[in-house]
Amino acid sequence: YQGRPWELRKVRTTCPYCGVGCQLELNLKGNKIVKVMGVRAIPNEGRLCVKGRFGMGFVNHPDRLKTPLVKKNGELVEASWDEALDLVTSKFKEMKEKYGPEKMGGFSSARVTNEENYLMQKFMRAVIGTNHVDHCARLCHASTVAGLATTYGSGAMTNSIMELEDADCILVIGSNPNENHPVIGTYIKRAAKLKNKDLIVIDPRRQNLVRYARLWLRQFPGTDIAVINGMMHVIIAENLHAVDYIAERTENFEAVKETVSKYTPEYVEKISGVPAAEIIAAARLYAKAPAASIVFCMGITQHTVGTDNVKTMSNLAMLCGNVGIPHAGVNPLRGQNNVQGACDMGALPNVYSGYQAVTDPANRAKMEAAWGVAGLPDYVGMTLTQMIPAISEGGIKSLYIMGENPAMSDPDCTHAIKEMQGLEFMVVQDIFLTETAKLADVVLPACTFAEKDGTFTNTERRVARVRRAIPPIGQSKPDWQIISEISTRMGYPMNYKNAEEIFEEIRTVTPSYAGMTYERLESGGLQWPCPTIEHPGTQYLHKGQFTRGKGLFFAIEHQDPAEMPDADYPLYLTTGRLLYQYHTGTMSRKAVGLNEKAPECRVELSPTDAEAYKIASGDMVRVTSRRGAITAKAEISRKAVAGTIFIPFHFAEAAANTLTIAALDPVCKIPEFKVCAARIERA
Ligand code: SF4
Repeated sequence: YQGRPWELRKVRTTCPYCGVGCQLELNLKGNKIVKVMGVRAIPNEGRLCVKGRFGMGFVNHPDRLKTPLVKKNGELVEASWDEALDLVTSKFKEMKEKYGPEKMGGFSSARVTNEENYLMQKFMRAVIGTNHVDHCARLCHASTVAGLATTYGSGAMTNSIMELEDADCILVIGSNPNENHPVIGTYIKRAAKLKNKDLIVIDPRRQNLVRYARLWLRQFPGTDIAVINGMMHVIIAENLHAVDYIAERTENFEAVKETVSKYTPEYVEKISGVPAAEIIAAARLYAKAPAASIVFCMGITQHTVGTDNVKTMSNLAMLCGNVGIPHAGVNPLRGQNNVQGACDMGALPNVYSGYQAVTDPANRAKMEAAWGVAGLPDYVGMTLTQMIPAISEGGIKSLYIMGENPAMSDPDCTHAIKEMQGLEFMVVQDIFLTETAKLADVVLPACTFAEKDGTFTNTERRVARVRRAIPPIGQSKPDWQIISEISTRMGYPMNYKNAEEIFEEIRTVTPSYAGMTYERLESGGLQWPCPTIEHPGTQYLHKGQFTRGKGLFFAIEHQDPAEMPDADYPLYLTTGRLLYQYHTGTMSRKAVGLNEKAPECRVELSPTDAEAYKIASGDMVRVTSRRGAITAKAEISRKAVAGTIFIPFHFAEAAANTLTIAALDPVCKIPEFKVCAARIERA
């Protein structure tokens, strides 16, 4: 029973799960969400995936945090807001005086609104006085931001979601949109099936899109650069590259030409396992398409060569003139609902909102004037993946964590938990008592997306409204309000009346958002850059000219992953998401329907490996790496390639990140979640 139509109240808002940013209508009976419907609007045109339609049970879930909690004698006990905020304020002041602001860190969140991300980085910089602020983009797309900003000048999806359907060729590499961005998956399937466009899938797993693909290249994990260099070798050798475009719009092509000259299809076959003939066929298909789009995700980014992987995608697209035109481009699919927005808002250690570098004196002066402070820190702060290990070295003494769950999401998470236990003071602000919140000294109850106003920015740079549908559950408060109250108590008043007032401040200091207002966003959202109030927003980037001027080619060589299989750990282990669950499960595991479909962790392995290790589907297996071991059920699947096992990272009781390696990309410090070595045995 979902309520009779006349009993239901409807509120349009933006999906709180993935970066597609589907527009949906919450149907409410009283203050309870009883049904969710898709809205016929960009980018989803009425479609929703199973998470958007059936995954909202977390909002009204009985386990929601309803009061602040304060740790007393090792136990978290209920406290009043005054008691909790007094404690937070006095401890933050004490930490700042005792150790200095550079020993304090803040984790912002891809789960919360733009307004809240903006305030978190403002609080850490203007009030605490540190640039140690980061968020989980570090774990998913930091390499995209670093790679694309260097090659093109703008670290975001170049084109728009709905353009995919009319791309002449779509190359999907290291991305599984049917499970992770399902509505984008529908556009790709429509292109391949209904419009007969060419689809190339490059992925070690036999993911669902393979059924629709003209070509499927099954590479060894961590060999993407070799495969793409091989394709570029063929394109150049067969004169299929865009000679005029390269001459007019790019630089450093000759260096790439020289580097890829040795990546013959036969040489690449030896590195990647992909037959030479398939590399040639993929190169021809991609290069001959008038508009070809590259779609990638964490199979590209979560590597020690993540930034180089992204630069290689840039190289291929420029080689064939596929940037700055409709239906083409380089299109990273951002994972979480507002990971694009959290980056745009400067919840990063090196930039303010709009990617304005903290090291530039002019930018600091601008922010000091806007915020009414002096002496903003001028150094690049620590990343999330640097802050956690810095704890045991005495580099970080306190953390303020908003809407993040590093106890589950960090690589080698047993070690991450030990590190966080060494903090002198830790505040967690969240909607549930997460694995990380359990470690905190103070837990502050925050509102979900359904209880607050604001904006999210989706993967195609579209800023869309989030609208309050119900009052806060229990004593929870919107994150922006909690940050404001802490800031005010610390002597820097933040007296915003509502989220719109914060957005108005964002506009004044962020050129790419300057033309947006809540009133303009009412008509369906705007894509940045949107520099003036008359500007219609930008459907695709780099038209006529790259953001940085000329597109920059980089000559890049293949490198092996940090840890390769060996005699002790003979299998590749790779991790990822399932359609029915989401990230550390904080939200999706509170939704009854989703849990029925994917109730537990399953270790996916190939029939070949199952036979070799005498494992049957449903057997309990122990998977061990150099960092630890987990026990879970086995699932024998044709998706898996022999020699590689796959484990989803949603399940705390069998946390995949117990096994993963904390090896980092040297440029952007993203961990290599996608490759490490492991062994498997029946438990
Ligand atoms: Fe929500 Fe993403 Fe599903 Fe759309 S595709 S309904 S944004 S989870």
